[in-house]
Amino acid sequence: MNFIQTRGCDNTKPKSVTFSEAILSPIASFGGLYVPENLPQLGEEFLTKHINSSYKELASDMLSKFEIDIDDNVIVEALALYDNFDDATNPVPVVKVKENLYVSELYHGPTRAFKDMALQPFGKILSSLAQKREENYLILAATSGDTGPAALETFKNQKNIQVVCMYPANGTSDVQRLQMVTEDASNLKVIGIKGNFDDAQSALKNLLASESFKDTLKAKHISLSAANSVNFGRIIFQIVYHIHNYLELIRQDAIVMGEKVYLNVPSGNFGNVLGGFYAQMMGLPVEKLIISSNENNILTRLIQTGIYDIRDGDLKLTTSPAMDILKSSNVERVLYELYGGERTRELMEDLDKNNIYTLTADELSKLQEIFIADYCSDEEGKEYIKSAFADGYLMDPHTATCFKAYETKTNQNIKSIIYSTAEWTKFSPVIANALTGEENAKDLQALETISKEAKVEIPTMIKGLFTKEIIHDSVIEKEDIEKEILKFL
Ligand SMILES: *Cc1c(COP(=O)(O)O)cnc(C)c1O
Repeated sequence: MNFIQTRGCDNTKPKSVTFSEAILSPIASFGGLYVPENLPQLGEEFLTKHINSSYKELASDMLSKFEIDIDDNVIVEALALYDNFDDATNPVPVVKVKENLYVSELYHGPTRAFKDMALQPFGKILSSLAQKREENYLILAATSGDTGPAALETFKNQKNIQVVCMYPANGTSDVQRLQMVTEDASNLKVIGIKGNFDDAQSALKNLLASESFKDTLKAKHISLSAANSVNFGRIIFQIVYHIHNYLELIRQDAIVMGEKVYLNVPSGNFGNVLGGFYAQMMGLPVEKLIISSNENNILTRLIQTGIYDIRDGDLKLTTSPAMDILKSSNVERVLYELYGGERTRELMEDLDKNNIYTLTADELSKLQEIFIADYCSDEEGKEYIKSAFADGYLMDPHTATCFKAYETKTNQNIKSIIYSTAEWTKFSPVIANALTGEENAKDLQALETISKEAKVEIPTMIKGLFTKEIIHDSVIEKEDIEKEILKFL
């Protein structure tokens, strides 16, 4: 299957490209994104066929329906990475929390956050493409905390790939920072930037626009690529677990085939819930897709009013930092599916020029047929962490935001699946504070508090981080970033 462009074609690029091309150079004409030319229809027959399949069998068959230009043996190797998750037979456990409420745990991979679900297999595919083409790629990543560790983990020691990862020196949790700065491989470079996530991201953007940097890369025969969440190579793996979760509920006798369920997703850049949207378009019985966010409630306002408005540019720092976002990139793919390429280009141009776009009443009602949304403040989130814990479920602050929309927006007679995107170990100070009132604890102390309260062991891989050798100790001003990267290359 080929991939086409959300904002139409400007004739400097082909009208449609293969999967390989779409993932190696993910930016399409007019700054748009690549989307599948048509979505395979799976329907009840497909679901029935996979009722007893393993996660990998399901994934492999779903991928085959997309007819992508990746060799079968590479796909097998990519999917084999799910064997390194906590339970190789079931990388994504679906846990019943209470009557009609289930949590899909997407954090059982090597870096303990949901980014592994896609970056693990995607990393394998990208590096084998680079090797096959005998090309060298530099992957630049700016991270607020979860993408960095997952990208480093998947690309470490992969031939033909180098990764430079920039993080805000004081903007991540200790665990997230240690996961990055202790990664030891000669093809990885981790740089702390003095400032916040926006500073790290704008440093990266300046670099991408720098002519001298481009010339240097060219002279070294290095191409640039990106592993950010608009890459369809990540999205494709994020469709699988929505289907898996549905089959899990059938296996647990919670639903019967065809019964509709809510998928309730803590959302930032919209990659996770986009996977659910595609799964629904491919035939999964979904009642509504629920977008949960924090006080950066741009997505809630879009779904409720049809207006995407970031004119005040006001980003709040919350206790669910992976969802602190103004421009949620993957929404564009929904605009494309619902309103077509011409209209998508118009809307995205409005956003780029004026920081606002407005849907028509018809467009809004189409959107509302599919999505509902609500947002959750940090204080409310803390209460949900506390009350879920009292019911026997320990969760992180991102997951907690879903409980608000579950209460305010759903019919609780219909089954809900909430997506849990991070393990408690990654955001321990917030959780310890919610459970015991402990203030300003560092990660290590907070981990111990939670471990005692919840009677769970701190995983050895997390505990080990605090005594591991620091490999990457550079923390620099953002002006010095180009120099620092050139030293590494
Ligand atoms: C990345 C991330 C999210 C947001 O996911 P999107 O696909 O960007 O919407 C939510 N929670 C955690 C813990 C994350 O790391």
